[in-house]
Amino acid sequence: MDNCIFCKIAKGELPADIVYETADLLAFRDINPQAPTHVLLIPKKHFKFLDELQKDDKMLAGELLLAASEVAAKLGVAGGYKLLTNCGEEAGQVVPHLHFHLLAGKKFIP
Ligand code: 5GP
Ligand code: ZN
Repeated sequence: MDNCIFCKIAKGELPADIVYETADLLAFRDINPQAPTHVLLIPKKHFKFLDELQKDDKMLAGELLLAASEVAAKLGVAGGYKLLTNCGEEAGQVVPHLHFHLLAGKKFIP
């Protein structure tokens, strides 16, 4: 999508510290980390947020979850991370391209 920063990162048009990549997914370090490990996991295809996923996207949805676990293992934080997505401005979403935050390396208040 034009003018979407995460689409531009996915296409290689903007730089990012990439930690994981498949044909459909990308994970890169957050520019303003809120924890020692703070990675953003995105589908390369543009969706505004989680609610835009349809039944046809079941495979992609599953790939995202499995990739989160794989990224955590790759970064050495398996079994000790938080995974979250902000769905909509009211939830604090700032970048309107579906992404999961993978956070680890500090104590989180439950
Ligand atoms: P949201 O609030 O939308 O859930 O999270 C957006 C996240 O994207 C924020 O944590 C912010 O620091 C990160 N971010 C915004 N712009 C960029 C960018 O250009 N590159 C990277 N790597 N992260 C970004
Ligand atoms: Zn996008």
